[in-house]
Amino acid sequence: MKFSNLFAPTTKEAPKDATLPSHIFLIRAGFIQQCGSGLYNFLPLGKMVLDKIRDIVKEEMDKSGANEVQMGVVTPAELWKQSGRFEVFGAELLRFKDRKQNDFVLGPTHEEVVVDMVKNRVKSYKQLPLHLYQITTKFRDEARPRYGLLRGREFIMKDGYSFHASSESMAKEFDLMEQTYRKIFTRLGLNFRAVEADSGAIGGSGSKEFMVLADNGEDDIVVCSKCEYAANIEAAKRTKKESKIEPPEATKSKFHTPSTNTIEAVANFFKVDEFYTIKAVIKKAIYANSEEIVVFFVRGSDNLQETKAQNASKALELVDASEEEIKKAGLTAGFCGPIGLPKEIKFFIDSELKEEKNLICGANEVDYHLVGVDMFNFKEDRYKDLVEVKEGDLCPLCKSKLEMTKGIEVGHIFQLGQKYAEALDATFLDENGKSQPFWMGCYGIGVSRLVAVMIEASHDQKGCIWNLQTSPFALSIIVSNAKNEDEMKLGVELYEFCKSKGISVLLDDRKERFGFKIKDYELMGFPYALIIGKSLKEGAVELVERKSLEKEKISLEEIKTKLEGLFL
Ligand code: ATP
Ligand code: MG
Repeated sequence: MKFSNLFAPTTKEAPKDATLPSHIFLIRAGFIQQCGSGLYNFLPLGKMVLDKIRDIVKEEMDKSGANEVQMGVVTPAELWKQSGRFEVFGAELLRFKDRKQNDFVLGPTHEEVVVDMVKNRVKSYKQLPLHLYQITTKFRDEARPRYGLLRGREFIMKDGYSFHASSESMAKEFDLMEQTYRKIFTRLGLNFRAVEADSGAIGGSGSKEFMVLADNGEDDIVVCSKCEYAANIEAAKRTKKESKIEPPEATKSKFHTPSTNTIEAVANFFKVDEFYTIKAVIKKAIYANSEEIVVFFVRGSDNLQETKAQNASKALELVDASEEEIKKAGLTAGFCGPIGLPKEIKFFIDSELKEEKNLICGANEVDYHLVGVDMFNFKEDRYKDLVEVKEGDLCPLCKSKLEMTKGIEVGHIFQLGQKYAEALDATFLDENGKSQPFWMGCYGIGVSRLVAVMIEASHDQKGCIWNLQTSPFALSIIVSNAKNEDEMKLGVELYEFCKSKGISVLLDDRKERFGFKIKDYELMGFPYALIIGKSLKEGAVELVERKSLEKEKISLEEIKTKLEGLFL
């Protein structure tokens, strides 16, 4: 490709809302262009990167035995109504009607569509297992589209769905996909971890996320300092916390505790460690057709983990309850405890509080607390894992210290079980001739998100630093002065040489100042540049490595061998 033919509009200015390097540089270097909120067009350079990532994903998926298909982005709402997700998916699902007033959605994920594709076509266990995948556009009406390609509304995902005759076969495919994903992200040159994850609205049991470790990541990840344990904060576990401080022994009684409506005030009042107090977090839970106040109890020294709380209450969403709503529910903010709550109030208690003794909690009465509270008389299903794991807590596997880090989710694999096949009545005949719903797994990779992740993982103040696996070009040949015939002649010769050898190369033949061209090169960030300029008089050219920006003079006799060594 000659730069004079390339559409790559570079700019000095970053868009106002761009704060992350990947967002700033991909726009400034002319890889992508924003056309609406969360909507991006891929310009030629962006499209080249996207295709390279897509090719790596496709190659590894094909090697694993999966079949590539392509499903429509527009999906009849009927399928989503059958699975029950038409309501549950919430505002992220973009719904619309056609001219005949039929309901449709823009597919945010394709479980329903793929089940419909397989249903009545795969009839026997003999045709299983089967894995279908696609690399296509998804639409999610995200509440806060941001960070450019990292969280768009329209984006490109690789989504795969596997069908099985047994849970064992499903688990086997899950392991195969974990291995396949490891190969993909390793080939991309990314520093990643596979972490235990929450299954979210997709449902099912057992899921892992692939996180690229990055300071700008939106996800908090808990990792063990010694063993392999790693989990998203939403799913992280810890060894049950103990306190070295003695518990405040007391017989159960009610105390007047004026103005002690925070955990700190209560702990100070009784001169006890916050560990022995109970914190109440009052939330409003939103369901498909209703809402209600729900209370979550954790230790005073702990925080509530919202996703765990949402799973415990099976809510679509949890929001803060207003003072008025709390009052109306018959609760006393600041003095709320698990004993003596109004009967109709739904509440959950963190599992670590089970059978604990000598605790202090609100008495459900203004300015009163209960002491000497023992947690014996609650039903089993009140206890849920609600606690947010913190740095320094102990690993659930090896009891070493846990650490916190940030990550960007690039992939997510799930064992779905029979949930979707049951809802959509998709069955096969098993070995005994009995009809059974399919066992399913589903597996996603954020292909367009990965374009941005490559830059979050590798950039400097000047711009992008692509690796050879994903760069649009391996090499840019920069003709310093395009009007100088000798320079141009050599540029074209080396350009033709690279093309003949299959080295992906860009010839910067533009009639621009050298300073302008080198700035563009640094911003675009291809792995190497060859500068044909001043040194030509001495019979040499300069090879620049983008990563280090180090320059090396190479004589004209050596240059072709050097390029072959570098790229072939
Ligand atoms: P997140 O937690 O980041 O919102 P998700 O859990 O909703 O992601 P999945 O449903 O697991 O995402 O989708 C599979 C993959 O698609 C994700 O791992 C991610 O890489 C990518 N992805 C999801 N949402 C977006 C988005 N809005 N823009 C770009 N990529 C996305
Ligand atoms: Mg996910």
